[in-house]
Amino acid sequence: MSMAIKHILRSNVLTLRLLIGATSVSIIAILSIVSFLLVREHRTAELAAIRTSLNIVQLVGRDVQNTVNLYDSALNALIDVSKRSDLNSVSLPLKHMLLFDKAEQTPANGGFYLLNAQGDLVADSRTEVSPKENFSHWPSFVEHRDSNSPNLFISHPFDSAENDGICCISFSRRISGPDGRFLGVAVAQMKLDYFKTLFQRLDLEPHGFIRLISTDGTPLTQHPEPASADAHTNLSNNPVFVRFLHEHRGSFIALSSIDGEERLYNFSEVGDLPLIVVVSLATDDVFSAWRRNAILVGIGTLLLCSALLTLTWLLGRELHLRQRAERQLEALATTDPLTGLANRRKLDQTLEQEWRRAQRSGKPLSLIMFDIDHFKNFNDTYGHQDGDEALKRVARTIQQCMHRSTDLAARYGGEEFAVVLSDTDASGAYNLAQSIRQAVEQLEPLTPSHRRLTTSMGVSTCQVKPGDQLAGLINSADQALYQAKKAGRNCVISAAELS
Ligand code: GH3
Ligand code: MG
Ligand code: MG
Repeated sequence: MSMAIKHILRSNVLTLRLLIGATSVSIIAILSIVSFLLVREHRTAELAAIRTSLNIVQLVGRDVQNTVNLYDSALNALIDVSKRSDLNSVSLPLKHMLLFDKAEQTPANGGFYLLNAQGDLVADSRTEVSPKENFSHWPSFVEHRDSNSPNLFISHPFDSAENDGICCISFSRRISGPDGRFLGVAVAQMKLDYFKTLFQRLDLEPHGFIRLISTDGTPLTQHPEPASADAHTNLSNNPVFVRFLHEHRGSFIALSSIDGEERLYNFSEVGDLPLIVVVSLATDDVFSAWRRNAILVGIGTLLLCSALLTLTWLLGRELHLRQRAERQLEALATTDPLTGLANRRKLDQTLEQEWRRAQRSGKPLSLIMFDIDHFKNFNDTYGHQDGDEALKRVARTIQQCMHRSTDLAARYGGEEFAVVLSDTDASGAYNLAQSIRQAVEQLEPLTPSHRRLTTSMGVSTCQVKPGDQLAGLINSADQALYQAKKAGRNCVISAAELS
């Protein structure tokens, strides 16, 4: 193979490797960048939802806190005024006004009630003359009677008999004497609709909800109204609620134990009140825009990578075809078109190569040169076409006699042939020459009327020493061939016999 062709083939292989390498690196880079951006966008979407939700939680928490503060200060005022010794000396309307002055400022007020130590109603914000009633069964009364905690007590939601069955919660404080003795309870009822109205003003995602929960796990109110009855059950054993209690404030993603949906919970305790505000969003809503983008980007990336792969495949195939064409060209350039043997050009290249190799290895190199006997006469007798056919048959016969891939048979020119035998000594070359000669002699004639062909051969072997010339090997083989002709043809003469 010529150096130029070798160079082209090597550069084709290099180009193909570079192409495959560059495509692989590009695809890995594209996939890494796209994955990084998608992960970052996912996190950004989550952080944006958390920020918005926690702002809502904070605003609602502040509103709830303010409302509870209003009720608490009205309760404190009620207790303070109730303890005044001169309260019974003023008129009934004035007494009523003094007791419930601050109660008027509370929103969604369902009545303020002053109970004595036995639970008897002493004062009622709804009427100046209190009906004779006893509320010692109220949970708020029981709580304060049985515990001397001075803290504000917030009840569970209940359907208030005093407010036509409307759902209320109550705030209450214990009234204690100077010695800590239980003197009664100040209770305020608040209609829970107030918080619902407050929550309704907030704009949440389609499957989001906002909820106010007591720290003992009692759901107070929720917007939108929960579809499942489970949403009203106590949450104290719910793992999500347990996390609210432990973490006090924050956000996390968890599966809802009510509908099994994955949700983003954002929550905060309301000041030091036993209340927790929760804004919960369905992660499907939070990441819906991201998911749409991810699908588009994913399809785009796949198309881009497929296009790159297709392009690489097409280029690779093109290079492969070019390489094959170059090999075919190279074969054509080194093949004799009539016989299919190597041509003179290839013979010269191989001789040069094998000569250098023999020089390096110190192994013998042999050359057989042979010529068809009286071929001019053959041509003249049977015509040029039959002569060509005879040349092809002789070439095929030579090829069949050779068994080593390193040996080369070539058409030297006209009806002359040469065989290069690397790493072959004189006797080996002589034997091969004899076998070729015999095979040609035994070739069936083209037709029974044609004469048989014979060949004369000259064999030369060289143990290459420094200073030896390739021309010497060729000349001695040529000389031996000349001697074979002289000796009567159809024979093999070894150059060694001549010296
Ligand atoms: P010798 O035994 O001394 O070699 O006699 P010769 O006739 O073979 O030698 P010579 O060199 O005088 O003739 C060679 C002939 O080979 C001449 C030509 O007609 C024939 N020849 C050479 N090349 C081709 C070819 O490609 N095709 C055909 N058909 N004949 C060819
Ligand atoms: Mg000749
Ligand atoms: Mg001849």
